[in-house]
Amino acid sequence: MSTPLEKVEDLWFLDGNIFIRVGNNVCRVYQGFLASQSSVLSDMFAMPQPPEGANMLGGHPVMAFPDAPEEVTHWLRAMMLPGNFGSYPHKVTADQLLAVLRLSHKYDVQHLRRRALEHLAGLLPVDLDKIKAKGRDSTVNASLHDLDLSLYPRINAIVHEVGALWLVPALLYELHGQVQACYLDFIAEMPYPLTTQLIIRLYKIAQLTSHHFSVARLVTHGTLCKRSPPCGATENGDLCGSAAMLHHEPLTYYSCADYYVDGVHYVDSQGHAYEGDADFCEACSQAMRARHTRACSKFWDELPESLGLPQWKDLLAAKASDLGDDAE
Ligand SMILES: [Zn+2]
Repeated sequence: MSTPLEKVEDLWFLDGNIFIRVGNNVCRVYQGFLASQSSVLSDMFAMPQPPEGANMLGGHPVMAFPDAPEEVTHWLRAMMLPGNFGSYPHKVTADQLLAVLRLSHKYDVQHLRRRALEHLAGLLPVDLDKIKAKGRDSTVNASLHDLDLSLYPRINAIVHEVGALWLVPALLYELHGQVQACYLDFIAEMPYPLTTQLIIRLYKIAQLTSHHFSVARLVTHGTLCKRSPPCGATENGDLCGSAAMLHHEPLTYYSCADYYVDGVHYVDSQGHAYEGDADFCEACSQAMRARHTRACSKFWDELPESLGLPQWKDLLAAKASDLGDDAE
């Protein structure tokens, strides 16, 4: 061989019968075992090696995949090493997850494609009550909140590539909530250009949020309050600050969580804190919560269509098909 290849130690089985080149490294694994995982691999192994390839090692052909070497290594480990890519909520890295998803889809390794999608489904629930509950327990969502922002466009590209569109609304809703600064700053700081489709979709989410969660829609007008003096008669409560948070992560506005305002730590929901600051009467508070609940349902129902995606009914059918009927 022209380039000396280094063994991938944990993917080197002494009695392995196929060599797989990944970049400048080589793995020695079991052809029959890999073929049993997918018909695509089985067909690939059955094809005669081109004689001019002449990549031989110890009398065996060396094959290579046309994919990024680090992706192939993650994927081979997921297939070959028990426990390497456990089921959700087993910890996996983002690189590992995306590599296993992409290549398992491409080479039709169904059980790993499903397992990878189960991880994403766990991180990105499509059920409104689960999303609201996640706001209450910051530890559940920690792994996704820890993600580097630049990973979202990558996840977005791969879920499109593998046809798992049912993940897109929740993914973009999360991204919308994670973009702290203005969108233009976020777009400019990404390590590679975002697709026009993604930029338009983020804009659509911002638009839909403003539409359903405007303060004027949620808060009872002072003239309709029966208390004396009526709610809103005094200038209590930071309406602008609260509205900014409401538009940021509207669905968890009434979910208890840790949050900070001007460096002060609170454990409460944004909504309850706002009601307290604004000194709302019980009737006005309850009316605001009821309007918020309705706004959440409408926003979530309308989100797929506003993003140009199929309706939830079709997305959920695709999800059930991807994950198996027993999932949810
Ligand atoms: Zn009132």
